[in-house]
Amino acid sequence: GSKTEETESQNTSQQDSISDSIVAKHYNERQDVGLTERTKSRIFFLRNFNNWIKSICIADTLQRLRDSDPTARLTVLDLCCGKGGDLLKWKKGQISRLVCSDIAEVSLQQCEERFKELGNRSNNPYDRGTFTAEFYSADLSKELLSEKYEDPSIQFDLASCQFSFHYSFESHAQAETMLRNACEQLRPGGYFIGTVPNGCELVRRLKTSEGTQFGNDVYTVNFHSKDEFPLFGCRYDFHLEGVVDCPEFLLYFPLLEEMAKKYQMEIVYCKTFHEFFDEHSKDPENNRLFGKMKSLEQYPPDRNTTASSTTEGDYSHAEE
Ligand code: SAM
Repeated sequence: GSKTEETESQNTSQQDSISDSIVAKHYNERQDVGLTERTKSRIFFLRNFNNWIKSICIADTLQRLRDSDPTARLTVLDLCCGKGGDLLKWKKGQISRLVCSDIAEVSLQQCEERFKELGNRSNNPYDRGTFTAEFYSADLSKELLSEKYEDPSIQFDLASCQFSFHYSFESHAQAETMLRNACEQLRPGGYFIGTVPNGCELVRRLKTSEGTQFGNDVYTVNFHSKDEFPLFGCRYDFHLEGVVDCPEFLLYFPLLEEMAKKYQMEIVYCKTFHEFFDEHSKDPENNRLFGKMKSLEQYPPDRNTTASSTTEGDYSHAEE
């Protein structure tokens, strides 16, 4: 979505939740162990595919920002940045300043180390592909980043929250706080982009399954009920063989869209991964990128996720 005006303020709430510590522990300790070759290649494909989607979303949005101001020095907020899987994308997008935050301190440290390895600590912000970065450890569904920033007047051109926003849908207060962190320091004209599991598709798969579980030999999703889907706190357990074993929460996208209006955000673009793939794979450059992935025909794109971005278009430097 994009930001139309200044933000308004709102109270955040501190409430206990079971999942945040489990989520942080999981991501801090995460190592891909004990995988069979077949599982490895399927997960390898999935990661590449997810990265391909993110690369395009990010490159498109940065391009859109540059189209409106070619001389802009772009400041980006990477919410739930994890180990820094998008650092190269920010580098290729030639941003000037990055703020990273995550609840998992070990992951955040790894992110900072990866950033240092990128050799980005140039004192000259006009160098191509160099940017400064700051790192804040925080439960973004409970703490306000605006109370932590070294520069409280910081304004972002872009906030990005990849594969993470759904964790905050444990409660209304947590989703509100996460959204506030994403939007309150966006400048007017700025964008918030992200990728989340497709809640409607998850429910559809649940409804067409035998019990409260569905999946295949690589992943399983376990719901606790087949009939009740509260807007917040609808927990399911996601297991990806040897990689992820974590509680997640169903996110009904139209609700997020409605909540974001409070921050003067309007939706610009929202697609499922499948739709996104159909739209973007026609471009020869994207196709070349995608063609690098192994086992493409064997594993068609999963329809399980939603990409929310700003626009369609060219993304010639999306490769990572
Ligand atoms: N955005 C990264 C990427 O695309 O590679 C990491 C995605 S990973 C699936 C989810 C991340 O969300 C983890 O790093 C986890 O620690 C973080 N996370 C989950 N809940 C969070 C919260 N309440 N506050 C901050 N980070 C959170």
